[in-house]
Amino acid sequence: MGEVMQGAGVSPGVGFGPVRGIAGAVPEPDAGSRHGGDPAAERDTALAALEAVAADLEERGGRAAEAGNTDGRDVLNAQALMARDPGLADGVRAKIDDGVAAARAVFEAFGVYREMLAGAGEYMAARVTDLDDIRDRAIARLLGLPMPGVPESAEPFVLVARDLAPADTAVLDPAQVVAFVTQEGGPTSHTAILARTMGVPAVVALPGATSLSDGTRVLVDGAAGTVRPDPSGEEVAAARAAAAVRASALEESTGPGATRDGHAVPLLANVGGPKDVEAALANGAEGVGLYRTEFLFLDRATPPSDEEQEEAYRQVLEAFPDGRVVVRTLDAGADKPLAFLPAPGEEPNPALGERGLRMMRRHPDVLSAQLAALARAAAGLTAKLQVMAPMVTDAAEAAYFTAACRDAGIAHPGVMIEVPAAALRARDLAPEVEFFSIGTNDLTQYACAADRQIGGLAHLQDPWQPAVLDLVAPAAGAGVSCGVCGEAAGDPALACVLVGLGVTSLSMSAPSLPLVRAALVRHTLDECREAAAAARAARTADQAREAARAHLPGLAELGL
Ligand code: PEP
Ligand code: MG
Repeated sequence: MGEVMQGAGVSPGVGFGPVRGIAGAVPEPDAGSRHGGDPAAERDTALAALEAVAADLEERGGRAAEAGNTDGRDVLNAQALMARDPGLADGVRAKIDDGVAAARAVFEAFGVYREMLAGAGEYMAARVTDLDDIRDRAIARLLGLPMPGVPESAEPFVLVARDLAPADTAVLDPAQVVAFVTQEGGPTSHTAILARTMGVPAVVALPGATSLSDGTRVLVDGAAGTVRPDPSGEEVAAARAAAAVRASALEESTGPGATRDGHAVPLLANVGGPKDVEAALANGAEGVGLYRTEFLFLDRATPPSDEEQEEAYRQVLEAFPDGRVVVRTLDAGADKPLAFLPAPGEEPNPALGERGLRMMRRHPDVLSAQLAALARAAAGLTAKLQVMAPMVTDAAEAAYFTAACRDAGIAHPGVMIEVPAAALRARDLAPEVEFFSIGTNDLTQYACAADRQIGGLAHLQDPWQPAVLDLVAPAAGAGVSCGVCGEAAGDPALACVLVGLGVTSLSMSAPSLPLVRAALVRHTLDECREAAAAARAARTADQAREAARAHLPGLAELGL
C-alpha cells in the first residue's frame, strides 16, 4: 500500500485502474544541429511534417465530432490552422536557409510565436499548450520519435499527465479513462472543466503525479482530491461502495433545489454559450445563473456583430422559457483579454487593472451594443432576463451600470460581488440594483491576495477561508436577492453553508448540480445556518470545512 497523495479534487467520483502517462516529452532538438546542405529537400521535409500534423489533427477533430464533441473538433481544427500558418512556414524556411536542421528550425520558429502568446494573459497563454503540442508532434515526426499524446491501452486506465493538451483530451473516450490526475492545473483549469463536463473523476495540482510509474494501480477520489497507489482490495471496495451510494442518491436527485424543510434555492447553470445548454438541461438546471459572454468572443479580432450576439443570447433564453437567465456583460481584461478591446497600456498587475466593468466604461459603445442585443434577444420570450456587470467596486459603478441597463430597456440589472470592497459595503450597492451574484473565484483571489492562475497558491485560493465567508455574509444580508456563481457553489458542503449565510440561488458547472441538489435536500435551513456559523467561527479553511461537516450529517449518505 502506498502513501495517500493529496491534490485538489475537481470532479467527483471514484476511479481505480493502472496509471498510463502521456508519452514522454519530446526532447528539444540540439541547438547546433545543421542539415546536410540541401535546403530545398530539408524545407520539403519540414513542411511535409507540419502538414502531416495538421492532417492528423483534422482527422482527430473529425473523430471527436463523430463522438458528439463539437468543441473538441473546433479546438483541433484551430490547431490544424496554426500548424498551417504561413508565417510559421516562412519562419521555418528562413531558418533552414540559414543551415539549421529541420527539427531545430521548427523548434525555433515556434519559439517566436510562443513568446508572443505566453505574455498575453491566461487564455492566450493556454494556447501555448496547443502550440507546444503542434511543435512536439512535428518534431517527433522529423526525429522518428513516438508521438506524444494519450496512450493506447487494452484496459481502462487512470490518465496521468503534467497537464493535458486539447489534442489529447478531445479524443478521450470516457469509457477508457477512469480518472484524470495532473500535476499542474487548478480548479478552473482546462483539465478540471473538461473532467467535470465529461463526468470523469479528476484530481489536479497533485505534487509528484508524474513520478507515478506506468502500470501502478491507483485509487482516485475526485471528491476528496486523493490518489492512493496500490490500495488494498478493501479500500477499493469501500470507495466503490461509497460512490455507488452517491450514484443512487443522485438518481433520486431531481426537481427544483430546496432544503429538506422546503426552503427553495434555485439551482442554475454556468454557461459559456448555447453549446452548454444541453448539459444544463440534462442536469436539471432551473435556469442560467452565469452566462459568461466573453467566452463567445475570446478568439475574435473584430467585435461580434449585433445580429450574432442577439442570436447567441436568444438561443440560451429560449432554452429556459420558465426560468431566469443571468447574463454577464463582457468580462474582458486580465486573464481574459479580448483582441478587439485592447487594454489601455502596459499593466503590471492586470487582475487589478482595467477589467470587467472598468473596461466597459472605456468602451461605452461596446457595452450599449451588448445591452441592446440582449434586450432584443429577450423581446417576446418568457424567460426572465437578468443582466449583471463583473468587477464592480462601489455604489457609483453599480449606479452607472443600472443607468446603462435602463437606457437599453433591460428591466433587471444586477452586479457581481467579487471585489472585497463591494462585499464589505454591499449595503451601499444594494439600493442601486435588483440583485447580486457573488463571484467567489475572484472574491477569494482578491480577499486572499492569491492570483488564481498560480497553481502553487491553491491553498490560499480556497473559498472555505473564513475571511471569504465573512465577505459573503454582508452581501447575502444586504436586502437584495443574492446568488453565488463562483466554483464554491458547486461544492456540496459549501453550497449548504452559503445557503445558511443567506444566499438565495446557486449557479455552477452543470455536472455539479445533482450532487448539490442532493446535499441541500438532506439538510434543513437551520442545519445550513448552524454549519455556516460554525464555519465562520473557525480559524482556517480546513477547520471551517470540518466544523461545517459536523452540522451536515446528510453528506455522509452521499459518500462525501
Ligand atoms: C468568479 O469570479 O467567481 C466568477 C464566477 O467569474 P469568473 O470565474 O468568470 O471570473
Ligand atoms: Mg470573476
